[in-house]
Amino acid sequence: MVKREYGGIDYFRVIAAILVVAIHTSPLSSVSMTADFFLTRIIARVAVPFFFMVTGFFIFSKQEKKQFSYSDFFVKIGKIYSISIVLYLPLNIYTGYFKGYNLFGNIVKDLVFNGTFYHLWYLPGIILGVGMALVLLKFFGFKNTFLISLILYIVGVFGDSYYGFIENLPVVNRFYHLLFQLFGYTRNGIFFSPIFILLGMLIFKRKEKLPFKLAITGFVCSLGLMFLEGWLIHVLMVARHDSMYFSLIPVMYFMFQVLFSLNIKNKKSLRAIPLYVYIIHPWSIVLVRGIGKVLSIEKQLIENSLIHFIVVLVVSFVTAYLVYIFLKKKRLKNYKKGRAWCEVNLSNLRHNYQALKNVLPQDCDIMGVVKADAYGHGDVLIASALQKEGVQNFAVASLREGIKLRKKGIKGKILILGYTYPKEFNKLKKYNLIQTVVDCQYAKALNDYGKRIKVHIKIDTGMNRLGEDFANTEEIIKIFKFSNLEVEGMYTHLCVSDSLLDKDILFSLDQMGRFYNVIETLKTAGHSPKNIHIQSSYGVLNYPELHCQYARVGIALYGMLSSESDQTRVKIALKPVLSVKARVSIVKEIKANKNIGYGGQFTTKESGKIATLTIGYADGIPRNLTDGKVMIKGKQVPIVGSICMDQITIDVTNIAGVQQGDVVTLIGQVNGEKITGEEVARKAGTITNELFSRLGSRLERVYHY
Ligand SMILES: *Cc1c(COP(=O)(O)O)cnc(C)c1O
Repeated sequence: MVKREYGGIDYFRVIAAILVVAIHTSPLSSVSMTADFFLTRIIARVAVPFFFMVTGFFIFSKQEKKQFSYSDFFVKIGKIYSISIVLYLPLNIYTGYFKGYNLFGNIVKDLVFNGTFYHLWYLPGIILGVGMALVLLKFFGFKNTFLISLILYIVGVFGDSYYGFIENLPVVNRFYHLLFQLFGYTRNGIFFSPIFILLGMLIFKRKEKLPFKLAITGFVCSLGLMFLEGWLIHVLMVARHDSMYFSLIPVMYFMFQVLFSLNIKNKKSLRAIPLYVYIIHPWSIVLVRGIGKVLSIEKQLIENSLIHFIVVLVVSFVTAYLVYIFLKKKRLKNYKKGRAWCEVNLSNLRHNYQALKNVLPQDCDIMGVVKADAYGHGDVLIASALQKEGVQNFAVASLREGIKLRKKGIKGKILILGYTYPKEFNKLKKYNLIQTVVDCQYAKALNDYGKRIKVHIKIDTGMNRLGEDFANTEEIIKIFKFSNLEVEGMYTHLCVSDSLLDKDILFSLDQMGRFYNVIETLKTAGHSPKNIHIQSSYGVLNYPELHCQYARVGIALYGMLSSESDQTRVKIALKPVLSVKARVSIVKEIKANKNIGYGGQFTTKESGKIATLTIGYADGIPRNLTDGKVMIKGKQVPIVGSICMDQITIDVTNIAGVQQGDVVTLIGQVNGEKITGEEVARKAGTITNELFSRLGSRLERVYHY
């Protein structure tokens, strides 16, 4: 198949935009009214149908390449239309639009058919025309749809240029009267645009190029015909409005063919600017007139129609070009997420924090557990976001994590949950960190350092990990007697608080009982353990009523449970904070019976499409994520083949239009469709805590505030 080149069409967009500006500025009017008539009322009438044809043409071409998405198309045009409406509101207000009678009816009519400013009818014209064409095509096939559109066009012509001929026919007149009440004009998305959209589709569908000679002859002849038609209508004075001619259809058909047979190379950069010119040129007209008035150069600037036209044209194109550059830059800015990245939603973090705080007693504060780079979320930004919400206590696993937070300006208390090597005790002091006393022997080592150090004492109540054993009350009392230790708190850790099985609940209650007993003993011995804390996330969700100063919350702050199947006594609507995204690096058509990736782990059963992603196990995607899925274009597709260090392959056979550079979501939610961290963790045989804390440093982090 030869690659088709659309350069002719691309360049003509610029000419079409110039013609539209001409229609609204009448450039030749101060030279010759007749010349201006031929230019703006006849020649320039090809501009808008041309844009409709281009739309129809590219919709079909995209559909063939399976790159067309109805929703994308309508959302895009809808967006452009909405922005344009807002852009022209000031002029609407200035011209007294909102003071007219039957305002509501007019607004509806204008929004759907006429456009809210004189040139904007084109946008609802596209939406309505394409919508109608696509619906009709579905039910009636191409031929009939073409026929219906043609009939609609003929009806339209009689309500436009040919109105004078039928104005006096009684029944017909009544019919048109009704139409005009509904639409104002027939030049709209029902009578005008569908036939040209279909003509564009037809040219794409037939795929035949007319020989250049035939195309140009056809074009010249039909244009001659249109001159004649337009002129006759003009002298007979039958037109109600003059944009629809019968000969416009062959003119457009042959013109498109001519543009094709020129076979000029694509010029994609010319696709946006003419549209911007179209949208902003009425503002340029207002601006140029305003400037002419203010500077009192109306004679030179406005009354000479040719100069006026050229100045408006230049202003429009320069503005359009600036808009184009601005939008391009903005798009580039978003490309900081180039390869693979995490998006961190801090508003969800705030939601989780407040929701968790609400289930705890008033005087229990949340200690934000931000160890392991805040479970992969980025410790500094998470801690400062929590700090802004009022969190004054943080927990980290290691000395270095604590130092990092301090250096980045995190205030409040920072507790190191793990062991710090005695040679580094000086840093505890220097960075004002709180060290956990892991047992009595360690307390002695801390005391021997010789300077006052802040500590929390950890009690082992049954987990058999860190902490002085709960039974060794004498040892624990000894810790209080070390003169260099400033005991600020005391805590224990529950090891089965995530389970609601009876035996596990009993075990947890035992742990709590042991801890509170130690506290009582200490108090009787005259010591104050100060701030006590027991619960981690599941402690909060299953035992929220405990009386403590703090709860050390990690995973729940990040909007997840550890495991998908876990049940909790308190149910909070947690919102996941982090999503993981990457890009498609290549798409390949693969035949049946081919192996994908290392070790031939996966063999295609049928021919299909495989896409490779810019993310792998070095980024933290578990290598054993068998039967994993990712989301692309709003749909879930399976991971196939083994996961590589930097890449993953997925099966996109059933997804239309996947392209190099497309974004894929490995964890996260897009328009209601989602892949949760819990689900990925389950499939990888682990818990979310591990999955997220292992997300690689190679992933960029992007924050939404
Ligand atoms: C990690 C950790 C926590 C936080 O646990 P989550 O289940 O993530 O809330 C609490 N306490 C200690 C001692 C920890 O090590």
